[in-house]
Amino acid sequence: MKAKTPSQKQLDAWLREWQRILRLQDWEVKVAARRERAMHSDECEGCNRYQPELKRASIHIRDPLDDPEDADFPPDPETTIVHELLHLHFAPFYVTKGLLNTLQEQAIEAIAQSLVGLKRRGKAIVNKWSRIPPPVKQKPAAKQPPRTDKRAAGPARSPGVHRRVTAKLPTAEPRAMAAPRLISAVPMAAKRIRRATSKSEGG
Ligand SMILES: [Zn+2]
Repeated sequence: MKAKTPSQKQLDAWLREWQRILRLQDWEVKVAARRERAMHSDECEGCNRYQPELKRASIHIRDPLDDPEDADFPPDPETTIVHELLHLHFAPFYVTKGLLNTLQEQAIEAIAQSLVGLKRRGKAIVNKWSRIPPPVKQKPAAKQPPRTDKRAAGPARSPGVHRRVTAKLPTAEPRAMAAPRLISAVPMAAKRIRRATSKSEGG
C-alpha cells in the first residue's frame, strides 16, 4: 500500500519541532511536498536549497506517491526533514561531490535516523506506561452515625479539633495526677493527728 502525501500542517509541525531540537530556529525554513518531476534532482527523497549568508532554506520532500510500491525502505518524510535540516549545520564545510560528499551524506543520514528513532522509542515508552491503570484508591471510612447522648450536646466539633485536644493530654496528665496526691496527703496526716489527739484525750 502506498503511503499518503503528508499534509502541509504535518510537515510544518515536524519542521518546527526539529528546528527547535536541532537549534536551528535562527534559520527561516520552508517545507513542502513535491512530486518527483517537480524536484530539482531525480532519485532524491529530499532537497534543500539554502543560503547561509541569509540563513534561509527551502526544503522539498518527495511525495510518497512517487515511491515504488515494492520499496524495501518505505518513505519517511519526518526523517527526510531532519536530514535536510542537518545539512544547515554542515553547510560551512559541505563537499558537493566525490568521496567526501558520500561520507558526509552517510553521517547526516545516520544522525537523522538515530534522532528520529530515539524520539519514536521515547514515545512508545510513554504510550506503554500510559496504558497501565492507576493504583486503586482506598475507600474512605464509613461515617459514624451522630451521637445522641449527653456528651454529644453542644456545638459540633470536627474530628480534627478533637484529635488535637487529646494529643496534648500526655504532657498535662502527670501534673494533674501529682497535684491531687499532695493535696490528699495533708488531710490524711491531719486525720492521723486528729485521731492521735483524740486518743490521747480519751486515753
Ligand atoms: Zn543529504
